[in-house]
Amino acid sequence: MATKYVYFFGNGDADGDESMRAELGGKGANLAQMAKAPLSLPVPPGFTITTDVCQEYYKLDRNYPEGLSEQVDEYLAKLEAAMGKKLGDENDPLLVSVRSGAAISMPGMMDTILNLGLNDKAVEGLAKKTGNEKFAYDAYRRFIQMYGDVAMGVDHDKFEAILEEVKEKAGAKSDQELSVENLKEVVAKYKEMYKEVKGEEFPQDAKKQMWGAIGAVFGSWMNPRAIKYRKLNNIKEGALKGTAVSVMAMVFGNKGDTSGTGVCFSRDPSTGENVFMGEYLMNAQGEDVVAGIRTPQKLSELEKTNKAIYDELCQIRDRLEKHYRDMQDMEFTVEEGKLFMLQCRNGKRTGAAAIKIAVDLVNEGLITKEEAILRVEPEQLNQLLLPQLDKDAVKKALEIASGLNASPGAGCGQIVFTADEAEAWAKEGKKVLLVRKETSPDDIAGMAVAQGILTSTGGRTSHAAVVARGMGTPCVCGCSDVVFKDANTIVVNGKAYKKGAFLTIDGAAGKVYEGQVAVKPAAISGDLEKFLGWADEVRNNSVRTTASGKTVKGFDVYANGDTPKNAEDAFRFGAKGIGLCRTEHMFFDEPKLTAFQKMIVSESTEARKENLAKILPLQQKDFYEIIKAMNGYPVTIRLLDPPLNEFIQAEDDKALKALAKKLGMKPAVLGQKVSALDEHNPMLGHRGCRLAITYPEIYEMQVEAIARATAQLDKEGVAHKVQIMIPNVVSYREVEVIRGQAEAVIAKVNEECGTKLTFEIGSMVEFPRTALIADKVANFADFFSFGTNDLSQTTFGFSRDDYGKFIEAYLDGRIIEDDPFATLDPDGPGALMEIAEAKGRSVKADLHLGICGEHGGDPASIALCYKIGLNYVSCSPFRVPLARLAGAQAVIKSQK
Ligand code: PEP
Ligand code: MG
Repeated sequence: MATKYVYFFGNGDADGDESMRAELGGKGANLAQMAKAPLSLPVPPGFTITTDVCQEYYKLDRNYPEGLSEQVDEYLAKLEAAMGKKLGDENDPLLVSVRSGAAISMPGMMDTILNLGLNDKAVEGLAKKTGNEKFAYDAYRRFIQMYGDVAMGVDHDKFEAILEEVKEKAGAKSDQELSVENLKEVVAKYKEMYKEVKGEEFPQDAKKQMWGAIGAVFGSWMNPRAIKYRKLNNIKEGALKGTAVSVMAMVFGNKGDTSGTGVCFSRDPSTGENVFMGEYLMNAQGEDVVAGIRTPQKLSELEKTNKAIYDELCQIRDRLEKHYRDMQDMEFTVEEGKLFMLQCRNGKRTGAAAIKIAVDLVNEGLITKEEAILRVEPEQLNQLLLPQLDKDAVKKALEIASGLNASPGAGCGQIVFTADEAEAWAKEGKKVLLVRKETSPDDIAGMAVAQGILTSTGGRTSHAAVVARGMGTPCVCGCSDVVFKDANTIVVNGKAYKKGAFLTIDGAAGKVYEGQVAVKPAAISGDLEKFLGWADEVRNNSVRTTASGKTVKGFDVYANGDTPKNAEDAFRFGAKGIGLCRTEHMFFDEPKLTAFQKMIVSESTEARKENLAKILPLQQKDFYEIIKAMNGYPVTIRLLDPPLNEFIQAEDDKALKALAKKLGMKPAVLGQKVSALDEHNPMLGHRGCRLAITYPEIYEMQVEAIARATAQLDKEGVAHKVQIMIPNVVSYREVEVIRGQAEAVIAKVNEECGTKLTFEIGSMVEFPRTALIADKVANFADFFSFGTNDLSQTTFGFSRDDYGKFIEAYLDGRIIEDDPFATLDPDGPGALMEIAEAKGRSVKADLHLGICGEHGGDPASIALCYKIGLNYVSCSPFRVPLARLAGAQAVIKSQK
């Protein structure tokens, strides 16, 4: 049997259903599901061409597979029969919309064409049949504009210029004020301009128009903004087959005052509150709402003006939510008092809304806790930890305008007025606030780098609002107080602000403030606390068997932190320990820096010891505070691991002299020292435990400081669990030797302080060799922590400091799929970790394993760590909530 490429929906039935997202795209699958029983909603009939065709289209160098054209003919005939009208008919034409839709929703990124099937004769037929000439010509001018722009590549601005010119001449403020004669003039001018640009007449054959539109939609799968969107959202090229195309009978929201169109959400996508909300415009088509050209009315108004339609929508909202068991985003059109559903999908939402909706749906008995955990994207949690405006600072701040609270969080930056400027300024390291009349999909790259987005028109469902919510960027939209004066200036309530001026927005309140208003961090409470508690439960109760056959229980989240402040944040965000305390960071400020520099340039062991003795009490204080802040949770302190030359740098003579003076040395002697410390490849040089092999007194001092700080806390009755970690290990002998030295120091402190302290001493696994000899290392190590930054660096042979020069080309060319420093590569470092797990636990069955490289905060890497059998992941404090959730998701997915 020939491959089925086309699926029908409408008239109470459909060929496909919601399970066919991969083939019909989200839109096509849901249209089919809505059309058929049990939902049986009023959906205009149509047909969907599958994503397989899109895949074939690109394989065949933008040609269609054999048999498609016959199938489209067959289903078009079925659609015509269902509607009792024919495409291109001169007396009573069937008009269709041609819509895109991939398996994953990509709002506004691909193309859609409305009102297709009109030509010079059909427009007359439509006018007569409907008795509404104005409507017919409005539809025709919209079609020429959309088709010309989207399918034929005629610049959108050229159409806009003509429309503006006619409007101005007619003295019309809005499109609706144009008369039939004005609209006819617009149509004539559009066609004239089209011919000039394209060198041919605007296509009059409706079938040709339809194929042109189908080609445009398939073509839009590979347009730069769709590619960019996939990249930003980490949708891999090749992960989806492409877009489907739905050809659907038009229903008209622009047929006068009893018609309209709108978008609604079954719950508030901004806060998650269980309230029905949305926006609509009377006498308009869908594009008008989304484009933000006119600011729409609230759905609650519809309840007052057309209660019957509002009640019907409410019923549909309930049925769709119960059916899909999730918050729905719906598009509807009312044509002369009759309601039609054009689309439904699981609605995009802010992080706060995602949490509230997930928790509420569990409480309402619609989903399980496990389902709730899978409903929230880990990255969305970042939005909940977004800084909020400081309440005291707000009291003193000057509020200059307000608009719609489209996406929460506080955003402060220098104002720019184009997406390109936003990108350019951000590249220079500036924080920008993107201010636009409205945004379009072309602005996406600039929106991605902005601290916040402010628009002067458009509602909560405008492009700016939807995209900002998806990105977790604060957004205030529809702020009509903002007026664009010229390319470099906006005027807000009479006061001018030039490009580069600072403004602050509060996306949750919809307010705009002058200047930079102070922000403060968010806390974990309420629904978020409850939700993360469920995630913790899932991880704590997890049990898995590793590839090496070991059973591992539980999966914890620790944090990397070097300061008491980090430790407090980590604790606040729910970390169960510190997985990495990098002690070198403790030497960056004075007076430790000078003492440390003096230690490095010491001429003798005695001099070095003398300088180390000065550092010891300072280090002891740092350790005391960090261990205390973690209140009995494990604190893993890593002994020193910097290339020493990082601390002794002098870029010119002047700097050398100044440093020599500070250290009390002769510049010439210091100069020699600087040259001696210089390394061609410091990352592979004299760092990590190599320092301790050459200068044992450095680690001895650190171990003493750790032991003394712990002894002090011990005496104060404060709980403590301190682990000592050795970095850059490549030989078990390094661990054996350093462990011996450390134990001698600990014994000395115990004796002096009258304590009985014991410390676990573990090894980092950061190089391939360490993983390959993990059994030998495990004989001397109480635990392993994978330093996947170095492990990725040395497995790939990519310098972690320099790989930026080529990584983009590698990713764009799909030489590799992921940035190896962001997502742990399962075939390289991942495979080595698996070897280390097996070898290490062959010696010590319960060897505790963790990760402290940056990958510990990346969801895909966390899932890999779970699979390999790690006991915990450790990441930066602000990523702890994300890791708590991602870890739970890994557990649930592994059970499926
Ligand atoms: C690592 O290499 O992954 C690690 C945590 O150490 P650092 O980043 O300090 O080299
Ligand atoms: Mg390292």
